[in-house]
Amino acid sequence: MIRTAVFGGSFNPVHYGHINLAKEILRQDLADEVWLMVSPRNPLKQQADLLDEQTRLRLARLALADVPGVFASDDEFSLPRPSYTWKTLDALRGKYPDRAFFLVIGGDNWQLFPRWARADYIIANYPIIVYPRPGYDLDEQSLPPSVRVLRSVPLFPYSSTEVRAALRSGADVSAMVPPEIEKAIKLEKLYGL
Ligand code: ATP
Repeated sequence: MIRTAVFGGSFNPVHYGHINLAKEILRQDLADEVWLMVSPRNPLKQQADLLDEQTRLRLARLALADVPGVFASDDEFSLPRPSYTWKTLDALRGKYPDRAFFLVIGGDNWQLFPRWARADYIIANYPIIVYPRPGYDLDEQSLPPSVRVLRSVPLFPYSSTEVRAALRSGADVSAMVPPEIEKAIKLEKLYGL
């Protein structure tokens, strides 16, 4: 079975936090591949400023073109909306029988996890790796056995919100997104530029 990490999100836009996190998962040999699962719409997020899913997917693919083992997937685009992770994981399992899927989420999302649809079902059926994120404390006392919090990994102080804010204010985004992403965003005048 190909160990496939599903790393879901809006990727609005993709940034070095996403990319380096995925690389670290591979570097630690926790997965054979990491799939950035671009979500058409997150049931827990506001819609303002959200680029359409095809554009977010295209930017993610551009950013990952030279990153072996990390791919951006559009598998959620053909599923009913809004996208619920338990449904996505079940659909992936049905569609790719040669792969063992598990979930990778950032520490902010683990804090929100009890609000996810069928959180207990996900925990019972899919291993979860939680990647720490600056500013989000993780309580490791009460973790279910299938949930693992990574420790001693590099932390990435970036968010898509900060990227969008920096773009709007004309600030330098080169530390947060790859040059080709910055170029594409400016060329296509995305995010109201
Ligand atoms: P936004 O700022 O728009 O809310 P975001 O930067 O949190 O976006 P998402 O696309 O929502 O990015 O995140 C996708 C996944 O990546 C989530 O599981 C999130 O927890 C995780 N993630 C994003 N940025 C980081 C980071 N800097 N460190 C660790 N995990 C991260």
